[in-house]
Amino acid sequence: MTQRSFFPGIGELTDDDQFVLFHERQLLVRGESFVWSRSELEFILLDDTEILLIDEQAGASLIAVNAKQDITQLLQAEKRPLRSLLTTHAGQAFSMAGKANQVLEWYASHRFCGICGNPTVHHPAQRALVCSSCEQQFFPRINPCAIMLVVKDDEILLARNARFKSGYYSCLSGFMEVGETPEQTVVREVREEVGVEVENVRYAKSQSWPFPSQLMLGFYADYKSGDITPDGEEIDAAGWFNVNRLPPVPPPNVSVAGELIQDYVTHARNAGFEK
Ligand SMILES: [Zn+2]
Repeated sequence: MTQRSFFPGIGELTDDDQFVLFHERQLLVRGESFVWSRSELEFILLDDTEILLIDEQAGASLIAVNAKQDITQLLQAEKRPLRSLLTTHAGQAFSMAGKANQVLEWYASHRFCGICGNPTVHHPAQRALVCSSCEQQFFPRINPCAIMLVVKDDEILLARNARFKSGYYSCLSGFMEVGETPEQTVVREVREEVGVEVENVRYAKSQSWPFPSQLMLGFYADYKSGDITPDGEEIDAAGWFNVNRLPPVPPPNVSVAGELIQDYVTHARNAGFEK
């Protein structure tokens, strides 16, 4: 079977294809489903709408659609921010919607070449936009972040981010800087955000975080030295918490932060750190 192009034409669509639909950066959801069929969307697909291939499996495609008009009422749907699906559609379903969002964001922000300013066009065979004049290629960009749980026997370092509305205490995190390894990011971010030195930085797990296009690389790091001093900007409160007396933390099935915390708590209890 031939590979479907990354920007399928309307005529190439089949009745098996599935669609994820956005309007003004919000997802259209009906009941608990955000996946639409071709027949439900026929009327807007014919209307010069942007459609982009997200994934292809067993001959059927998952396609992202950016609706120009608000068709929420017509579809008896509601608009929801992608983030709200984190709690209702964990796992594979969320990752599908997240990928669709990232591809649409990339497409929306690379219509013109950053070098010469001319319009870009789709690459014929790859997920890339190419400058129509100087031929510079633009691939979807993923921004790597390190997220880390600093540990000290039966205690873990948790912080509350000044921007968090949830009130959760969570892991520290930050974007990788140019030229850094993720392990170096861990050491620098912990030092900058709470004034603590860490050692024995070790990778644990990762998560795509499509708000809009981060890759979260999760680490553990052992406490080495220093007193916790929140930077007062990003972090407004931080402290050591015993694994048996934790403040409200993010749930494990939603974010890698929640998983790092839960996995360590399980490990610490099994290792007999309890007092
Ligand atoms: Zn150019």
